[in-house]
This record gives sequence, structure tokens and C-alpha cells, in this order.
Amino acid sequence: MTMSEAENCGLTEREAKLVGHPAGTALPDLPATVLRLLATDYRDDQFERDYFAHYHGASMGWSGVMFGIARLNALCRLMGEQEFDAAMAEVRAKWLRICVAADAKERALAPCTRCGRSRRLPDEKSELCGDCASEQWEREHPSDGRADLRSGDDDTFPFDDDDDIPA
Ligand SMILES: [Zn+2]
Repeated sequence: MTMSEAENCGLTEREAKLVGHPAGTALPDLPATVLRLLATDYRDDQFERDYFAHYHGASMGWSGVMFGIARLNALCRLMGEQEFDAAMAEVRAKWLRICVAADAKERALAPCTRCGRSRRLPDEKSELCGDCASEQWEREHPSDGRADLRSGDDDTFPFDDDDDIPA
């Protein structure tokens, strides 16, 4: 699907379910409230990807990214810049609150009980930081295939912590 096709196609199955209008409905035939709902949903998705990349070091992949950008272009044209910008500002404010809360939560985490480094949100349920937790996991599961993959990672540059230096 080209960008222009993505901008101009009717509601996809996913969009149809989200907004409660039949799949295939042309975007210009939708009421303003539905256009706004779609726009905030696509902007939300972009922020969610950024959030997971930043706080969890995890990529959600590229699936749907270009389609979302094309949809936002189309929605901006249909909604008019003022209405579109207002919807985008609303989503941004929501994620700003989420990030402020996540930052505070991360700062409040007690340091790793083994190495004393600060922990990140993905380490929340453990007393250990990510590095110490995966080291412990390897010790407890020495023959597991995933342990081999991890030790492969240790050979990659940069050797940024002591654990990477062979004894
Ligand atoms: Zn640690």
C-alpha cells in the first residue's frame, strides 16, 4: 500500500471496530467526532511506541508506523489544522502526565540490592537491576538456549561492564 492509498482508503477493520462505523467507510463521510477519535488513537500509538522504547528499552516494531503517519496526514486535512492541533495537544498532555509519573516511579525505586545501581521500570518486580537479574537467571538456567543467546551478546562491543570481561 502506498502512502497515498493509506491516506485515502476507507476504514480498516481495526478502525471500524474502534469507531463503530462499517469497515470501508470513506474518511470524508465520517462525523468530526469520529475523525478526532481516529486522530487521537494514531497519535496515542506513536507516543506508546516512544514510551516503551524509552522506559522499557523495547521496540514495538515498525508494523503500522507508516500507515499511522499517512492516516494522520489525511485526518489533518479533513479536520482542519486548528481542530487537529487541539486533538494532538490533548494526547500530548496525557502522555506528559504518564511520563512524569513514570519518571517519579523510577526515581522512587530502591537501588539494586546486589550492585547498588539505580533500577529502571522493567526491573520493578525484582530487587535487582536488569544486569544483575539476567546474570542470576543465567546462573540458574545454564543449559537453556536463551542463556547461549545472552552470552553471545556479551561478545559485542562495547564491553561496558565488568561482567563482560572473561575471568
Ligand atoms: Zn545490579
